[in-house]
Amino acid sequence: MNEIFLENERKLFLKTYNRIPIDISRGEGVFLYDKAGNKYLDFFAGLAVNALGYAHPKIVEAVYKQISRFGHLSNNFITDVQLELAELLVRHSKMSKVFFTNSGTESVEAAIKIIRMKYGPEKIIYSMTDSFHGRTYGAMSLTSREKYKKGFEPFLPNTQTIKYNDVKDLEQKVNKNTAAIFLEFIQGEGGINVITEEFVTKLVELKNKFGFAIVSDGIQCGTGRTGKPYSHNHFDIKPDLIVTAKAIGGGLPLGALLSSEAFDDIFYPGKHGTTFGGNPVSCAAGIVVLKEVFENGLMEKVSTLGNYLLDELKRMQNMFPTQIKDVRGKGFMIGLELFYDGNEIVSQMRGRKILINCTNQNVLRLLPPLIVTKDEIDYFLFNLIEIFKEKNNGN
Ligand SMILES: *Cc1c(COP(=O)(O)O)cnc(C)c1O
Repeated sequence: MNEIFLENERKLFLKTYNRIPIDISRGEGVFLYDKAGNKYLDFFAGLAVNALGYAHPKIVEAVYKQISRFGHLSNNFITDVQLELAELLVRHSKMSKVFFTNSGTESVEAAIKIIRMKYGPEKIIYSMTDSFHGRTYGAMSLTSREKYKKGFEPFLPNTQTIKYNDVKDLEQKVNKNTAAIFLEFIQGEGGINVITEEFVTKLVELKNKFGFAIVSDGIQCGTGRTGKPYSHNHFDIKPDLIVTAKAIGGGLPLGALLSSEAFDDIFYPGKHGTTFGGNPVSCAAGIVVLKEVFENGLMEKVSTLGNYLLDELKRMQNMFPTQIKDVRGKGFMIGLELFYDGNEIVSQMRGRKILINCTNQNVLRLLPPLIVTKDEIDYFLFNLIEIFKEKNNGN
């Protein structure tokens, strides 16, 4: 069954993905079910998208209701659902205005365009080593890892890299010729790397001196995933722009650029646009997500349970010091760095019907739905410990 399934995939698709060999039939809450009836605990959540898990009744209802009214109008109209979502986003991010997109990479493109308009074409836009900002050309130019870039040159001119958490490198490179700095306050694809207090302090100091823009990429680490609205909220900093996507559409394609007052009047009609961006059905689902996360107590729960999960994993590191090199992250965005290739553990966990991800070769990446319970976390921890034990015993 699975073989034919994967064989057809090979026949029909360009080879951009290594697929997980499970034929999913449906999802409910934090669980996925395959066609053979197996039930999987999902600690990957569609890459941090499914904050409310699968088939959340409120999302189902909101989507059904909206698509029965109209699925799409074009941005020649403003819709009530776009307005309601915009108000929620602006209020909880403490930004001034919003531009809706369909994805993370499009939000980054919108940010690059508004920065170029404000600062001109010559000034440098920086991003960090190990960053990931997306796959389209502007966003890819700001993505620093070789594996995503090799063979796609030439990139956007006047884009450069600063070493993540290297205060010296930051000080040396940034000056009055700097337009903007893009950063993930907690890096996702790069292996769950948390920015240091020291680096943020220096960043703010240099920004006050030179006036460049700080762009917080909250696409993966935003929307309550780390126990705060956006991961920069763990620090004393107000970014000029925030790019968001992934979880904000409740599983439907949606992204946004959020801007501070200084950017209010940079774009004017004709300078930027999108056919589908801010699709009403996606917005209707997004309203449910933001209300649940920001207003119905979910984010506070993520903070508490995230601390619990992190503490337990640190205990596990003490139990298996020859296997676990480091445990880091915040809320429900946690990385477990191993001394060996993490894909081994990923497939063993899959054998135990638990789905996790591995990034950067040896970092197990945990991104459970924000609705996950303590019991489900304990079940996950129990199984992970069993696997480390087996490995310790040489199995
Ligand atoms: C996923 C991601 C992107 C790109 O988002 P897409 O929706 O895949 O285009 C950008 N930045 C970060 C930090 C991401 O995790």
